[in-house]
Amino acid sequence: MKKYNFFAGPAILPQSVIEQASKAALSFGDMGLSILEISHRSKEFVAVLEEARSLAKELLGFGDDYETLFLQGGASSQFFMTPMNLLDEGETACYVDTGNWSNKAIKEVKHFGNVEVLASSKDEGYTYIPKGFDIPSDAKYLHLTSNNTIFGTQYHSFPDTDIPIVCDMSSDIFSRPIPTEKFAMIYAGAQKNMGPAGTTLVIIRKDLLGKVKREIPTMLDYNTHIKKDSSFNTPPVFPIYVSLLTMKWVKEQGGVAAMELINEEKAAVLYDEIDSNPLFVGTSRKEDRSLMNVPFVMAKGYEALEAEFLDICANEGIMGLKGYRTVGGFRASIYNAMPIEGIEKLVGLMKSFAVRKA
Ligand SMILES: *Cc1c(COP(=O)(O)O)cnc(C)c1O
Repeated sequence: MKKYNFFAGPAILPQSVIEQASKAALSFGDMGLSILEISHRSKEFVAVLEEARSLAKELLGFGDDYETLFLQGGASSQFFMTPMNLLDEGETACYVDTGNWSNKAIKEVKHFGNVEVLASSKDEGYTYIPKGFDIPSDAKYLHLTSNNTIFGTQYHSFPDTDIPIVCDMSSDIFSRPIPTEKFAMIYAGAQKNMGPAGTTLVIIRKDLLGKVKREIPTMLDYNTHIKKDSSFNTPPVFPIYVSLLTMKWVKEQGGVAAMELINEEKAAVLYDEIDSNPLFVGTSRKEDRSLMNVPFVMAKGYEALEAEFLDICANEGIMGLKGYRTVGGFRASIYNAMPIEGIEKLVGLMKSFAVRKA
């Protein structure tokens, strides 16, 4: 039976990417060696890395004043590398708290400078994106989380401000066009929408760097990696290669603008069902709903049916639908690589469940 991967991360990859990656694991190009065993200094891998670095910027439309890095340590390491590299002692960085991941980012800032949390949606269980908050003019940067993987909310527009925005795009990178001019830096762990676990994309405007007074350990200094073309030490060869394959796939789909249309259509099919099916209700505010992670729960009075529906889904090849452990209910992660057939399958099961139970 065809299985559909609705897990939040590590997550679904395009089937064609998995096939190409499998071939490369046996024999890469005409090297006669596996991609898993080649030198990161080989001309073949240097070409992969250079193409991945330039295609990431090309897909999103970042110009020459930005550098692309493929780092290790996950998006979580960016939580501390960002203030370590950009924020001096005594300076203030502003954050918006939209859930677990922004909270973890906020927690790291105090090691390096001051943090001001401008707004939070904690009061309503992170079911919305705060809007209309004031941004202090002396803020060093404003940190946002573009898509909240756990709570299923997403910024559909970004604040208008001259303060440079740093954005965690781990779970919606390459899913839509972004206003690049607003961003000083974006970062994304690969394993949601870009590739397998093991590398983190960082795109950063070069003029921001080298301004803080503290001494930064070599490996944690963005400039170290920029000066060595993202190969200061051994980069994660295979995750970068698979990320390149996925980016090429996005380009073949028509780029991020075409991806956005596809993602809007896919998400609408699922949200329409959630809104019309008497057994289920969505948990995030309509205007802030994520196109990537769709959380929903059993409607009032039907809570006892949750485990039964999860079982039906698993038996029908819908994998990974269980909600985040602290949230409960369901979460359908429908990243770029999820085909609409997967969503239609899920919606079909929701419909037939309602026929029997509502
Ligand atoms: C998954 C996730 C992270 C954490 O990524 P790691 O690579 O595991 O450190 C950070 N931010 C967001 C928005 C995520 O979805």
